Amino acid sequence: MSHKVTLIPGDGIGPEVSEAARRAVDATGVKIDWEIAELNSDLILKTGQSLPQSVVDSIERTGIGLKGPVTTPIGGGYTSVNVGLRKRLDLYANVRPVHSLPGVASRFADVNIDMVIFRENTEDLYSGLEQEVVKDVVTGLKVITRVASIRIAEYAFKFTALTNRKKVTAIHKANIMKLADGLFLRCCREVAARYPEIEYSEMIVDNASMQLVMRPEQFDVLLLPNLYGDIVSDLAAGLVGGLGMVPGANMGEKCAVFEAVHGSAPDIAGRSVANPTAMILSAVLMLQHMKELEAAKRLQTAVERVYAGKTNVTADVGGTATTTQFTDSVIAAMK
Ligand code: NAD
Repeated sequence: MSHKVTLIPGDGIGPEVSEAARRAVDATGVKIDWEIAELNSDLILKTGQSLPQSVVDSIERTGIGLKGPVTTPIGGGYTSVNVGLRKRLDLYANVRPVHSLPGVASRFADVNIDMVIFRENTEDLYSGLEQEVVKDVVTGLKVITRVASIRIAEYAFKFTALTNRKKVTAIHKANIMKLADGLFLRCCREVAARYPEIEYSEMIVDNASMQLVMRPEQFDVLLLPNLYGDIVSDLAAGLVGGLGMVPGANMGEKCAVFEAVHGSAPDIAGRSVANPTAMILSAVLMLQHMKELEAAKRLQTAVERVYAGKTNVTADVGGTATTTQFTDSVIAAMK
């Protein structure tokens, strides 16, 4: 049986890394009927539409997206289509597993880092509600709701129980944002009380940032509102070799969109130097979601083999391989 998947190449390094992921998935032998959906800055500027209905329709039809990054202009211009897509499809749970892979050159190569980040994906300061109250005075609305906080907490605890993980740490700034982060914490505590076998603790986000650098091995499952989840994800990626390494999944009730933590990396786009590992590992998460477990395992093992061999890796992790050469090695390692 073939699966239908919406493939969004994106822009910047997106087309390069998503092509790598598509090739790697096809090489597993799992039959995928790819539906290509264009979503990139050129198209947005040309059409004036930040989220074309055709992209939403395609993911609603297939139920699964594999997505490259899309550029968002800084300090003006169109609003983020990445955030727009997550809200539109109600992809409320952003799940980002952060593991050290053997052989990867990083400052923490001798530490066993194995954590999963659960980031609330639909609200917080990503509400996009900002206004200039009077000239040179701007406010932005941080929206935290019980519904969204409970469901991300439930998602994280259910995952922790199912995967036999031991510990959930909720990360917050409720000493300052007493109402907003206070509500988030109350919801986390309420869900934690239903899972007495799982150790639950809380940490203020500034301390958590320091702890992540000093003793990353203490973390198991991290549970965060949207903005802290975004920042902490990049920090955590830095512990295991950088943004080229960490995959992600945006999960909703009806659809799931798999994408790397990284952005469109305009500084290296178009040169075949981007590391496609994060995108290929996002495809591994997608195969797991499709219950193609054997193929997922084979692809994951192939990536690990290439890193263990150390020779055919990309420049961000100390090698000289191009995006295509790395992908060819992964495909060869599956045979
Ligand atoms: P970025 O993640 O694109 O890049 C940060 C740094 O990491 C750069 O030096 C880049 O070269 C490097 N890097 C990222 N991915 C890499 C890879 N696969 N291989 C090797 N090096 C890699 O973050 P940024 O520069 O802050 O953002 C660029 C654009 O991407 C912005 O417009 C931002 O809004 C957008 N963005 C999109 C998404 C998404 O589509 N989900 C996520 C984050 C950022």
